[in-house]
Amino acid sequence: MKIPFSDLVPIHRELESELQAVFLKTCRSAGFVGGAMVEEFEKAFAAWVGTKHCVGVSNGTDALRLALMAMGCQRGDRVLTVANTFIATTEAIHQAGGVLDFVDVEEQTSLLDPKALERLLEDPARRPKFVVPVHLYGQMVDMTRLGALAEKYGFQILEDAAQAHGATQNGKRAGTIGRAAGFSFYPGKNLGALGEGGAVTTNDDEVASRVRMLRDHGQREKYFHVYEGYNARLHSMQAGFLSVKLPHLNGWNERRRAIAQRYDAAFEGKDGIRPVRAYRENVSVAHLYVIHVADPRGLQKQLAEQGIASGFHYPIPIHHQDCYREEAFYRMSLPVTEKLAGQLLSLPIYPHLAEAEVDYVIEKVLAAQGRT
Ligand SMILES: *Cc1c(COP(=O)(O)O)cnc(C)c1O
Repeated sequence: MKIPFSDLVPIHRELESELQAVFLKTCRSAGFVGGAMVEEFEKAFAAWVGTKHCVGVSNGTDALRLALMAMGCQRGDRVLTVANTFIATTEAIHQAGGVLDFVDVEEQTSLLDPKALERLLEDPARRPKFVVPVHLYGQMVDMTRLGALAEKYGFQILEDAAQAHGATQNGKRAGTIGRAAGFSFYPGKNLGALGEGGAVTTNDDEVASRVRMLRDHGQREKYFHVYEGYNARLHSMQAGFLSVKLPHLNGWNERRRAIAQRYDAAFEGKDGIRPVRAYRENVSVAHLYVIHVADPRGLQKQLAEQGIASGFHYPIPIHHQDCYREEAFYRMSLPVTEKLAGQLLSLPIYPHLAEAEVDYVIEKVLAAQGRT
């Protein structure tokens, strides 16, 4: 058997005729950037997530950066996040003018550790103006405890929901809890465009209106520039494609969850294999399925010999990336983040992965770990 890490072909094959119709509509209307197709998608996605506003932008990185700027981030403001994430999170913070700081993650969930955050906040010098919780792998950060700390210490929350379309906690969806959230529609995300795309969701009228201006050269109306903004708009055709795919997202997420549950059941109680665990209050959308093992490189090699692709999310914590070697935080110690980075391996997961394929992956993982 040959099992890729992810396969986006079948999703698009099923929707080919509807996607073609979007392409033809775009050609015939000659509306390419913004416009009615973007507005339609924004309405549909806001309703699906459960926020008052959705503002479509060029990609998830821009969504985070523009949201942070719209929330009032000024050069020199402290912004706190985790180092177990994709670098887009810290690019967005840095490029919005924020001074980066990091808090460690929890062993069980690999997500922002609220207890570590509480300890960090005791030091007045490290209290941030903004915190960016990253809902990694499709599961949500403990937003109840984070919300309580936000209240006590007066920081604003921007959710990085780029891997969490539809994830819930106590019935609330990712993207509805912070002052704003950034979503990515990169093709491999749970909801993906046929190219780049992103969105900011928020219930805050002011944040929404600022992001609308910032994405379009800071314009209030054509040629009236309130800010020096950016060219960060969502393409009409991508919005049209996303509108075609959105009604299928719940079903795809269900399928991902079922695969994750099958993996979970198979690895339950097996020494030497520890799947990442979401909180009980969470419904994960299983963007990635990550296990911790002693020798992930070795396991990856053995799986590759059996035709199974796997990945590392993420092998080098962000504070230790080369691009940050001149920063003070480069020498910071985040013991749990650093330990987990050397132990993680992501197994194939995507809606069209067949049951027999999941069983084949399970069999080969157990065999490689000597646990059959
Ligand atoms: C994908 C991703 C982003 C950035 O999204 P792009 O659309 O690729 O710019 C940000 N944060 C996380 C956690 C991501 O996985």
